[in-house]
Amino acid sequence: MMKKRLALLLVLFISLSISACAPQKEKPKESIITNKLNLKKFPVLEYHLIKRPEARWSRTPENFRSDLEWLYSHDYYPFDLKDILTSFKGLPTGKTPVVITFDDSSSSQFRYLPGQKLDPECAVGIIKDFHDKHPDWPMRATFFILIETNNPDRNIFGQPEEPNYKARKLRQLVAWGMEVASHTYCHDRLDGISPKAACYSLARSYKKLKELSDQEVVSLALPMGLYPTDESVFSGGYQKIKYDFRLACEVAGGLQPVPGTSGFNPHHIHRIQTIGSEWTKYFNRK
Ligand SMILES: [Zn+2]
Repeated sequence: MMKKRLALLLVLFISLSISACAPQKEKPKESIITNKLNLKKFPVLEYHLIKRPEARWSRTPENFRSDLEWLYSHDYYPFDLKDILTSFKGLPTGKTPVVITFDDSSSSQFRYLPGQKLDPECAVGIIKDFHDKHPDWPMRATFFILIETNNPDRNIFGQPEEPNYKARKLRQLVAWGMEVASHTYCHDRLDGISPKAACYSLARSYKKLKELSDQEVVSLALPMGLYPTDESVFSGGYQKIKYDFRLACEVAGGLQPVPGTSGFNPHHIHRIQTIGSEWTKYFNRK
C-alpha cells in the first residue's frame, strides 16, 4: 500500500516538473484602453450595401477591401459592438479598436453562390478573404438584421429561394466570431409607434434572431436613427419574450467615446458613415 502511494507521488512529481519545464506560450499582450493607450474615442463604422457603383448607401467591394487594408495598416484592430461591454478584452498593445457594422441585412453583405460557395464579393466574403491573408486580423463585425420587410433582399440577407440559408448564415457569422444584432423586426421607426408597439417589434426581432443564431442578442441599431420618446423600451418584454438591448446605435455622430469617459451612453453609440467625406473628416484619409 505504502509503495503504491510512493509510486503515485513520484508520478505526480514527475508530471508537475515536466509541465513546469514545458515552454510557456507567450500570452498576447493586452492593454487597458483608457490608461495605457490614453484613448478617449474609437470609430464605429457603418456600411449598408456592398455593391457597384459607389453611392450614398453603397460601398464597392474594392473600396470595402481597401478600407480594411487602410485600417490594418494604421494599427486598428476589429471588434464586435458587444465587445464594448467587456472593454475590448484582448486588444493588442499599440492598436486602436474599430467596430465595423452593417445595416439592413441585404444579400450584398452575405451571399452564397451556387454550390453553397461564399460569394467573394459580398461583405462576409471580403472579410473572410482578408482574415485568411492577415490572420492577425480576426473576423469581427456586427450585422444589424431585419426579419420581415417588403424588400425580400433585406430579410436576413435575402436569397428567399433558399429559406434554410437564414439560420445557416446567422450561425456561420457567430461561428466566425461575428455578431448577430437587431435592426427591429420590420425596419420600424421607433419614434412613431407606441411604447407597446416598440416592445413588440424588439421582442419579435430578438426572439427570431436568438432562435436562428442560438446566441444572445444584445445590440440594436435604430432604423434611420429615430429614437422612441421612452427609451426604457430597449430592455423589457412582450408577453413571455424578455429581451435586453444593452447597446443601441445611432446613424451618425462621429467618433464614439470609450466606456468610462464623459459622453459615453450605451444607448446612443455614435457611428461614422463610410463615405469619402467622412473618411477625410475623421481619419484624414484621402
Ligand atoms: Zn436601416
